[in-house]
This record gives sequence, structure tokens and C-alpha cells, in this order.
Amino acid sequence: MKTIKAKSILQKVRYDGSQWFGIDYTMNLYRGCTHGCIYCDSRSDCYRIDTFDEVRVKFDALAILNRELRSRRNKGVVGIGAMSDTYNPFERELKVTRGALELIEQYGFGVSIDTKSTLITRDIDLLQRIGQQHSAIAKLTITTVDDELARLLEPGAPLPSERFAALAELARANIFCGVLFSPMLPFITDNDESIEALVAAAAKAGAKFIHTLGGVTMRAGQKEHFLARLADVSPDLPERYTSTFGDRYLCNSPRKREALALFRKRCNEAGILYRMPDIIEAYKKQEPNQMGLW
Ligand code: SF4
Repeated sequence: MKTIKAKSILQKVRYDGSQWFGIDYTMNLYRGCTHGCIYCDSRSDCYRIDTFDEVRVKFDALAILNRELRSRRNKGVVGIGAMSDTYNPFERELKVTRGALELIEQYGFGVSIDTKSTLITRDIDLLQRIGQQHSAIAKLTITTVDDELARLLEPGAPLPSERFAALAELARANIFCGVLFSPMLPFITDNDESIEALVAAAAKAGAKFIHTLGGVTMRAGQKEHFLARLADVSPDLPERYTSTFGDRYLCNSPRKREALALFRKRCNEAGILYRMPDIIEAYKKQEPNQMGLW
């Protein structure tokens, strides 16, 4: 595998940790992703990642992370997986993500992981210990329960049925876990049947939460790739997307209001959280002082 140079691994988020799942830091150990999701925002030109489908590991990532975690006084939650899936197929052998979790445990930080990979279950032991000591949340991104549709939308990722099985394994191990229903694809997965099925499957797996924004994003670089592949789902979709959304970046489902109303109703019935403040309050331990003491 190729390596890339990195000066830094850990980035402090610009907001106060009350927004995206309460994360205080972000980190990406790898660049690129093999899951091939047709809607992936990380393909956008603004990120300037060449050959996004090729995974490269950051050179000396664990040594850099060790130094950075040791020097941080505020033991916040570290978010992993925003720009690439940290559980790519190479991680099985390389164990860089596992090494990072060991450091996160060693230095007393919390963790928030986004993934489509079932490999996350390998690290249940570490997630349990980090959750007991600080905070741990695991998010399986699942956009549909339909395995055949997912083969078109996310051709390199484990099937949704496999992701739900991983979610159930995490739940049985008492990891605070749930579903990122993101994106919700207009004209594809924003219908009542899709939403009902997804909430039901998440509830059956033991999800504590589901989070969705009710749409998808499109911008230069990613948009062309996405529209070209939408035709494989249905030939009319590229034109429908273009005429509905034009040059918009945030492309909300035209039926977002009804879709989210049904989504919230079904989540409430199943006892599943969906509001960001409620999810953060349920899993994240508050730091009692700024000295890193718990
Ligand atoms: S798993 Fe995430 S990073 Fe990887 S291709 Fe899919 S959306 Fe992009």
C-alpha cells in the first residue's frame, strides 16, 4: 500500500462539541476509500484528493497521533471516518485504526466512529473500554435495507444486511450504536416504504439512534460522477436530479417534510433517538474540568 505524508493527524473542530455527535476532534488515518459510494462527497474537487478510490495510509500515523494525544489537555471525543472509511479492507492487516483506538484508550479520550464496514466489530473490546472510561459511539451508515439497491449505490461496501448484523453485534456488546441514514436519496430512498423498513430494521438490530438530514449533497467533481451512476439505478434519474436541483449543493428530498414526519413517528414508536442533542446527551460524558480529570 502507498503511504502519504502527514504533519498532523488530530484536528480540533471549530465548533464547541455540541453539534455533530458532540465530537471535539477529527482524525483520518487513511486517505481514499474503496467502498465506491456513488454519492460520496469526499470526491468533490474542493478536497483535492486524486484517485479517491485508492486507499493510502498516512505515514507514521500512530507516532504522530501518540504525540498529539499526549499533548492535549482536554480529553474530548475523537471523530473517525468523516473523509474516508477507516475500516477499509487493508485495515484488517494493518491495524492502524485499532492502534489509534488503543492510544485513545491509553490517553483517556472518547471516540465516535462512522463506518459502513463490518470490521468495526473486531474492535468491540476497545470500544467497550473507551465507553466505560470516557464515551464511545458507533455509527453504521445505512441508506437502504435493500441489498440489491445497495449494490448500485455502494458497490464496494458490505451489504446492508451485513451492516445490520454488525450493528446487532455492537448492540449486544452494549456499545452505544445506531444508524446514519445519510444520504436520504431523493426519488430513491425517501419514500414511506424505505423509511419504514429502515427504522424497523434498525430497531430490530438494537439501534439506540438514527440520524438523517433528509437529502444529499452535490458539488463540482462529485456531482458529475454521481449523476452518471444514477442512470444505473433508473435512466430517468439524472434528468430528474438536474431539473429539480440545478446547481444546488444541498439537495433536500422534495418530500422532506412528510418523510421526516414519518421517520420521527416511527422512531418515537420504537424508542429510537433522532435529535442530535438527545443523542449527544445519551452517550457523551461531560468533562468536569479543563484539567483532563474525570
Ligand atoms: S464509505 Fe464514506 S468515504 Fe467511503 S466511498 Fe462511501 S461515502 Fe465515501
